[in-house]
Amino acid sequence: MGIVTLDFESLNSRFEASTPQEILEWALESFWPAIAMSSSFQTQSIPLLHRITQIKPELPVFFLDTGYHFQETLEFKANLQKTWGINIIDLRNEECDDEKDAHSGEQLYLTDPERCCYINKVAPMKKALQNMRAWITGIRREQTPERPQANIIERRSSGLVKINPILNWTQADVYRNIYGHNLPMHPLFTSNYPSVGCAPCTRPVQPGEQERGGRWAGSDKTECGLHTIFFS
Ligand code: SF4
Repeated sequence: MGIVTLDFESLNSRFEASTPQEILEWALESFWPAIAMSSSFQTQSIPLLHRITQIKPELPVFFLDTGYHFQETLEFKANLQKTWGINIIDLRNEECDDEKDAHSGEQLYLTDPERCCYINKVAPMKKALQNMRAWITGIRREQTPERPQANIIERRSSGLVKINPILNWTQADVYRNIYGHNLPMHPLFTSNYPSVGCAPCTRPVQPGEQERGGRWAGSDKTECGLHTIFFS
């Protein structure tokens, strides 16, 4: 299917009432084999990963191996790869060797997290998606102030199509799906980490905080840039 033949407006209107399964099936039928998914292998990632293993286990699943993940995340990912046979492709920073601030000598995640996220997340993902026509993500509208504006299917200026099959799901939908199918959860979930990113930038949520309240806590940063800077 050529990109010019896609009517994004009517597809979005149709997909707002579709299930994630229906959206995934359409995406795979339309773009395979030039399609990949990305995952951070946290609890919120599980429903989508589970569906992919049932529909298209050979789908490449990109994981941003920033070098700053919790050991629990790496072990959780390795276990899922083994038990579910996921085709995981690790992506790493190839942009620069030095991840320290040029002036203070401190780690970039302390002094310039935007730059740290760019070199460890945005740049490697951009490169990996160069030869793809479509990218499946697990973002949900309720997660950040930026995400309510997202659409289920979107097009980047380069032509890359982004597909967000669970955009309309709530956190309750995620847990309902996990418990309903008896799916595994990230080991840190029970230690108040409903959302898990890099270790230096994630703390447990406090009572009353939202799902991502422990991400870049104490700063205005809510996004790593994959769904904002890169996909704009
Ligand atoms: S989340 Fe933190 S450690 Fe991870 S890439 Fe971004 S700034 Fe760096």
